[in-house]
This record gives sequence, C-alpha cells and structure tokens, in this order.
Amino acid sequence: MNNSISRRNFIKTTGSFVAASAIGFPSIIIPKNKEKLGVALVGLGSYSRGRLAPGLQMTEHCELKGIVTGSPEKIPDWQERYNIPDGNVYNYENMHELADNDEIDIVYVVVPTGLHAKYSIIAAEAGKHVWCEKPMAKTVEECQAIIDAANKNRVSLSIGYRLHHEPNTQSVIRFGREKTYGAVTNVTSVASYDGYHEDGNWRKSAELGGGALYDMGVYPINAIRYSTGMEPVAVNGRQYVVRKDVYREVDEISDFELEFSNGMICQGRTGFGESMNYLSVEATKGWYYLKPMSSYSGVQGTVSDGTELPEDPGHQQARQMDGEALAIKESRSPIVPAEEGINDVRIVQAIMKSSKSGRSRIVL
Ligand code: NAD
Repeated sequence: MNNSISRRNFIKTTGSFVAASAIGFPSIIIPKNKEKLGVALVGLGSYSRGRLAPGLQMTEHCELKGIVTGSPEKIPDWQERYNIPDGNVYNYENMHELADNDEIDIVYVVVPTGLHAKYSIIAAEAGKHVWCEKPMAKTVEECQAIIDAANKNRVSLSIGYRLHHEPNTQSVIRFGREKTYGAVTNVTSVASYDGYHEDGNWRKSAELGGGALYDMGVYPINAIRYSTGMEPVAVNGRQYVVRKDVYREVDEISDFELEFSNGMICQGRTGFGESMNYLSVEATKGWYYLKPMSSYSGVQGTVSDGTELPEDPGHQQARQMDGEALAIKESRSPIVPAEEGINDVRIVQAIMKSSKSGRSRIVL
C-alpha cells in the first residue's frame, strides 16, 4: 500500500490523525486535511522576530498560529501583530499543553542551542512535528534523544538548515552529486561575523551552547559535507579567543580540517571577530564558489565556465518552512532530516576534543 493511498483511505475513514510509514523515516503522523499547517514558535528572540515570523506571513503551506515564550512583556505585541488568540499563547512551563491544541501542528524550537533538546522533546511528546534550529543540540547524545522522541511519538523532525532550500546552494549540491565539473578535489569554507556579544548573551555561555563553532561553525561544516556529498573520517581543529575580556567560556575563533576516506582534506573556519563568508569548491574539471554563502539573502556565486549563480530574490526562511510543511502534508520525509544535525554536532564535538588535545587528529 503506498503512502498516498493509505493517507486518502485513512483521512476518508477517520478524518483525523493517522500514522503512515515514509521511506527513510520510520513513521509520521499526517495532520488533518488542512491547507495551512499551524506553527508555534518557541522563543521569540531576534531570529523568530526578524526572520521566521515575517517568513510565515509569506508561506502557502503553513502559518504562524502560536507562541511559546518566557517573556510576558512580548506577548501583546506578538498577539496584535500576528493575530494570535489567547488560547495559543504558552510559556515554557505549560508548553506540553500544546498536546490539546489542534490549531498547532508544528513546533519550531528557536531558543539557545543548549535548550534545543529539552524543548524539542517536549514538543515531540506533545505529538507535534518538530522543527529544531541549528545546531541541533550541544551533544550527539542530546541529538539522539530528540530523534528518539520524534520516532517514539511518530512525528516528523527537521533541522533549520535554511541553505538546503536555497537555489544556488542546491546547485552546488547537485554539481557535486552529478560531478558536473568532475569529482570534487578540495573545499574551503568560512562563515564568521565581526560581532560583539554583551554580557548575559547566551552566545557567550558554554552551558547554553554558545561560541563561534556551535553558532557559525556548523555552516562551513555542513557546506563541506554537502559540497562533497561525503562524511569525514577524521578531523582536527583549533579553538581560541582573541578578545579574552569578552569571551571567557567559549571559542571566539575555530579553524579546522575535515579529512575524507579518499585522502582529501577540506579546510573550515568560523569566528565572531572577523567578517568572512564563502564556500569554494575545486573539482577535476573546474571550480565554483558562493560568496556570500550563508547570508539570509544575496547568496551568489560563479563557476569556472562563466556560469553565474545570481542572487535568488525569495525569502529563504519562507521557502524553508513551506518546503518542510509541504513534506509533512504529503507525508514525505523531511527535506533536511535529523541526520544533517547530528552529523554536524558529531564533528563539532570532535573539533572541540582535538583543540583540547593540541590539535590532535580525532577519528570519527
Ligand atoms: P536570541 O538571543 O535573539 O533569542 C533567544 C530566545 O530564547 C530569546 O527569546 C530568549 O528569551 C529565549 N530563551 C529561552 N530560555 C532562555 C535562556 N535560558 N537563556 C537565554 N535565552 C533564553 O537568539 P537567536 O539569534 O534568535 O537564536 C535562537 C536560535 O536560533 C539559536 O539556536 C540559533 O542558533 C538559531 N538561529 C538560526 C539562524 C539560522 O539562520 N538558521 C539564525 C539565527 C539564529
């Protein structure tokens, strides 16, 4: 019985929730026949406010229906701006009650990294599909706990790697997969911003998953993985701090190498104290790059044969959320599955271990 047939039959007979198997994903719950799935944002910080909530005003397959916040002073503005009823406003203590709210189908976890596992698991236990921001969590064990909770509760789980939905990034992934310019022989990627974080900012806290490597380092790590289409077999790295009065617990800069089974060694770098953003790929019959490669807009590049990869005018986060919502509606596996998150976190942890042991080679 294929998915579309089982889905139609179940919806016809139950008109409600149904479990169906999906290729590559153990099983997911198909929501009622809604045109737009309801999304609740957990954490109303700068990313939710600046990108996700505006993006959810442009989406066809999902819409902003609820909020979870620990900051009551934010509630009136969000309710008014996005027409959110009292019944769809939650705090971190009562968010498990989302289980009783049919208007919410998807919970999008947008809190500090060290809290992703806690709230993603609560969302999955409430029977809601989970979108979890990058990096997926602080440790592989936490990532696995989220995956286990999603599987146990038969909900879909996707990681907020918006670039997988970005057209030029998709071209780079395709070039590697189809060997359009030959086999990939080297990749270099840097994602860093020249920033400063005030005291109290979670990006300075080791416990909350701060530091450049967790925050920005997953972009070059993920980029090296998607450009090569391969998983590294070993890593080495160095983490350090330039502004020692600012970053007392976490790295300000991390540079690293990912080693592959064919002997290729790719370079990555990330940091808070410098502004650089690119992905450069060399292949046997040419080269291509994206610069910038991970900004919210303006991702663009050039190929050695003169092909331009011009900026896409679309809204990245709207495209991401629509793509993932449609995948849920059609009972398909997520476009960016949990493996993307856990594999990057495994590499992050190995780079941290390498740095602590004098840049030793860590086998993955
Ligand atoms: P932020 O500091 O602006 O917001 C964090 C939110 O979490 C705030 O609303 C804060 O009140 C809330 N929060 C809940 N518990 C907290 C606690 N114990 N300590 C501190 N804050 C707490 O951060 P942000 O930039 O919105 O980032 C949030 C998440 O989104 C992070 O995981 C980050 O990596 C991710 N992010 C992703 C992208 C992307 O392009 N995919 C971009 C920015 C941020």
